Amino acid sequence: MSDIPILKVENLCKSYGDLDVLKSVSFEVHKGEKKVFVGPSGTGKSTLLRCINQLTAPDSGFVYLNGEEIVHSGKKINAYRQKMGMVFQNFNLFDHLTAVRNVELALLKVKKMDRKSAREKAMYELEQVGMADRADFYPAQLSGGQAQRVSIARALAMDPEVMLFDEPTSALDPELKREVMEVMRTLAAQGMTCIVVTHEMKFATSFATEIYLMEKGEIVEHGPPSEIPTSPNFVKTRAFMGSYA
Ligand code: ADP
Ligand code: MG
Repeated sequence: MSDIPILKVENLCKSYGDLDVLKSVSFEVHKGEKKVFVGPSGTGKSTLLRCINQLTAPDSGFVYLNGEEIVHSGKKINAYRQKMGMVFQNFNLFDHLTAVRNVELALLKVKKMDRKSAREKAMYELEQVGMADRADFYPAQLSGGQAQRVSIARALAMDPEVMLFDEPTSALDPELKREVMEVMRTLAAQGMTCIVVTHEMKFATSFATEIYLMEKGEIVEHGPPSEIPTSPNFVKTRAFMGSYA
C-alpha cells in the first residue's frame, strides 16, 4: 500500500513586512485523517490554509499533494486547487446567484460540464448537505447555517481529495453551528480527509484524529484529542482563545 500522504506541508514560511506569520510549519495528512488546528487569533491559521491551497504564495517551503510539489509547479495551480475544497468563515457565496447556481458555477466554468450534468451534480451535492429544497434561494434568503452548507456543497462539487475548513462555524449562532458541524461529521464519516481551523474545542476533540496547537506562526504542540486539550501548553494558550475553549 502506498504510504504517500495526500498532503504534506514542509517548512512553510510567510511574512508580511516585519511580521513572521508562518515560521517553518510542517505536517502531513494521510487519507481519511481529520487534522484540527486551534490557537489564538492572529497566529497564522488562515494564512496556513491559504498557503496550502495557493490563495497566498508562501515565501518559502513546500506543499506536496499526493507527492507532487505544488508551490513551485507554475501553471498547474488551478488543477491542484480543485482537489482542495475550501470553506471560509463568511461563506464567500456569490450574492447574485441562487444556491444551485453557486454550486454549479465552477462545474460549468472550470470543469466545463454541460448544463444538464452540472445541474444534476449541483443538486446531488445540495442534497448531501440537506439543502436541495433551498436550491433556488439567494444567499440573502438563507440562514448563516444554510449558506455555509451551500458553500460546503460548492466545495464538494469539485470532488476534492481534501477539504479545508477555516472557522466554518465562527460566524454562526449556536443553534446554526450545530447543523454545519453535523454536515462535517457526515463527511468525515464518509472518509473525507479534512483540515479544520476552529475555536470549538468540544467539536475539535470529538472530530479530530489529531489536534495542532498554533501559536505565533508555529505548531507548538500536536497530538491526539485525548492529550492536547489537557496539555500544559494548551491550558496556557487557552486563556488567549477567549471563551471558546
Ligand atoms: P489567524 O487565522 O490565526 O487568526 P491569520 O493567518 O489570519 O491568523 O493572520 C496572521 C497574521 O498575519 C495577523 O497578524 C494578520 O493581521 C496578518 N495578515 C494576514 N493576512 C495579511 C495580509 N494579506 N497582509 C498583511 N498582514 C496579514
Ligand atoms: Mg483566521
